[in-house]
Amino acid sequence: MPRRPRLATALLLLLSGFAARAQPVVIRAGRLVDPDKGTASTNQQILVEGGVIKAVGPNVAAPAGAQVVDLSDRTVLPGLMDAHTHLCLTMTTQGGQGLNELLQRLLAATLLETNARRALVGAKNARDMLESGFTTVRDVGNAGNYADTELRKAIEEGMIPGPTVINAGRIITPLGGQYHGLHAERPDLGEPEYLYADTPDQMREAVRKNALFGAKVIKIVVDDQPYLYSVEDVKTLIAESKRAGLKVAAHAATEAGVRVAAEAGVASIEHAYTASTEALQLMKKNGVYLVGTDFTRSAAEAMGMADYHQKVVDRLKRARAVGVSIAYGTDIVFPAPGETRGTLSVAGIESFQEAGFTPAEILRFMTTSAAKLIGVDGHRGAIKTGMAADIVAVPGDPLADASVLRKVSFVMKDGKIIKR
Ligand SMILES: [Zn+2]
Repeated sequence: MPRRPRLATALLLLLSGFAARAQPVVIRAGRLVDPDKGTASTNQQILVEGGVIKAVGPNVAAPAGAQVVDLSDRTVLPGLMDAHTHLCLTMTTQGGQGLNELLQRLLAATLLETNARRALVGAKNARDMLESGFTTVRDVGNAGNYADTELRKAIEEGMIPGPTVINAGRIITPLGGQYHGLHAERPDLGEPEYLYADTPDQMREAVRKNALFGAKVIKIVVDDQPYLYSVEDVKTLIAESKRAGLKVAAHAATEAGVRVAAEAGVASIEHAYTASTEALQLMKKNGVYLVGTDFTRSAAEAMGMADYHQKVVDRLKRARAVGVSIAYGTDIVFPAPGETRGTLSVAGIESFQEAGFTPAEILRFMTTSAAKLIGVDGHRGAIKTGMAADIVAVPGDPLADASVLRKVSFVMKDGKIIKR
């Protein structure tokens, strides 16, 4: 007997869901930014229907029953993007100084936490990122045993709020992963956090495994052990990834690693902390994006790597002079009092400001440029007819002062209002 009411309730929920999705929204934008051009137009209206931008202009008629969102006192822009996140990883800030110490702490964090906890951490960080204005992220691994795939699916199904996630699955590395201090009796401790691949056959198998288990990008580590992947190794990984329709993001922190990754032609190099100007020129020549994870002074201090801040600012200045393509990427994994993963991630613009980038350039790295690297530029990263309705708003003028991006006060994701 209770069957019928339950069915009716289910139908009602389904219909109300459709109704909510079908109701058009008209956003009145005081200023509307076009990041590609670095310009803004005043008094624009954006019609959103079914999660998609249907019209943009000064005289867009509001259809009957449309919800009107008045942002006439704010600047409206496309949702922000972060091309280097680790949503399913939060590390403690206790411990010593230096990169080696940091990687020891990574070992502890990833070995002692269950996959279930990693997924929950991911859900929390995903919501925080979205609320700070990030509507798309490229999540580059460190998610246990594919917790990132489950996180992506849960967001796509509407189960939990979060940005569009392009996830890497397990990071492919030579034996040992990114752990420093593993010994010969237990080299296996690095898995499943990492996916070991040393021979060309293992590399092809690793890429296929990731593709099969839901990865949307392939992340490799070129230079975190005494031995590096060779140019041939990286080319093997790129070729197999290409067959699966996936791009390759390469962790390379050293000059030698950057040169290998750039020569092989990966889609992006992550970190490149101290890359020489010549290495940056090679990246430009081969169309390789720099995702510099350019830690602010306080982020670098939290990591026990205070000296890295000035290094990345100097490298950013040289990258600007060379003209390397840049996509914004943060690598934030440490918490800070009173901050969320989202607020810490958007704070990364400080380093770009210190390196002398204009607000328009910074905004482009966080929208259209990141969209191209991530591979979503066909439908996200701009406010244009036919694009997904990923829209944020800030007080003030982000083309005059990029700092206002830290005050995102409205977020719409795929047409759904998340924050206002
Ligand atoms: Zn990282």
